[in-house]
Amino acid sequence: MGRLDGKVAIITGAGSGQGAEEARIFAREGAKVVATDIQVDKVNAVAEEITSSGGEALSFNHDVTKQEDWEMVVKETVNRFGKVDILINNAGIGGAEGFGLIDTIDLDGWNKFMTVNATSNFLGIKAVVPEMRKNGKGSIVNISSMAGIIGGAAGVHYTASKGATRLLTKGAAVELGPDNIRVNSIHPGFINTPMTSVVLDDEAMTTNALKDIPLGIIGEPEDVAYLALFLASDEARFITGAEHLIDGGQTAK
Ligand code: NAP
Repeated sequence: MGRLDGKVAIITGAGSGQGAEEARIFAREGAKVVATDIQVDKVNAVAEEITSSGGEALSFNHDVTKQEDWEMVVKETVNRFGKVDILINNAGIGGAEGFGLIDTIDLDGWNKFMTVNATSNFLGIKAVVPEMRKNGKGSIVNISSMAGIIGGAAGVHYTASKGATRLLTKGAAVELGPDNIRVNSIHPGFINTPMTSVVLDDEAMTTNALKDIPLGIIGEPEDVAYLALFLASDEARFITGAEHLIDGGQTAK
């Protein structure tokens, strides 16, 4: 028996990194997966990989900053799979662009990060909640960052966008609790994905990054995916509005 048997999950940014791993693991645990991304070829390949190994998955070209794209994805999900149980708001930007000092971040850069990393999560919640209400329950997981909890882990535009996600999560959890819709945030530390290749491709930068992590390792996409799996499942039925750090102890110091 799978931990997500019978559930339908929309996962954004599922063409790469953590989102792709969440799609694979959720499908293995019995979910029907709707994998979305602006990287169309990559997200199609993830969905094909799932279906060719016996799972159920659809993929869509979905820009999470566009309300009409959200409406299309939710409509197609309900047409094909009948309902929406889970939303993983995972798509985001960071990398080298997510660093920089206040003097070098311009208004366009600030707005881009707030729109892609924070406003997108609001649009996603707004799009799925009517379907979750019809279904009498739901689980939404917003992927924030340790940079949404402490200062200094990235540029202020990235930090502010992830901090906004943290409190969007808590506000939505309070409002949607009576509808039996749970909303939680995950705050990863350093995870080995294309987003962090700017550091991981450089030995000296990697050694330096490891010094800040008590466990002395970089996280893997599946580490975050298993936490998302737990929060998405009914095992977490009493958990909402909570922030879940997964950072090898980096923010414990
Ligand atoms: P990733 O491998 O770069 O995957 C993110 C995916 O989202 C990419 O395919 C990306 O496409 C896509 N995307 C970007 N903008 C989008 C948009 N407007 N609409 C739809 N999809 C879009 O990165 P990841 O590390 O798995 O990141 C997943 C989440 O974890 C992000 O929210 C990130 O901020 C967060 N996070 C990551 C780390 C880490 O250490 N890796 C730490 C803390 C938090 P493009 O390649 O075209 O941008």
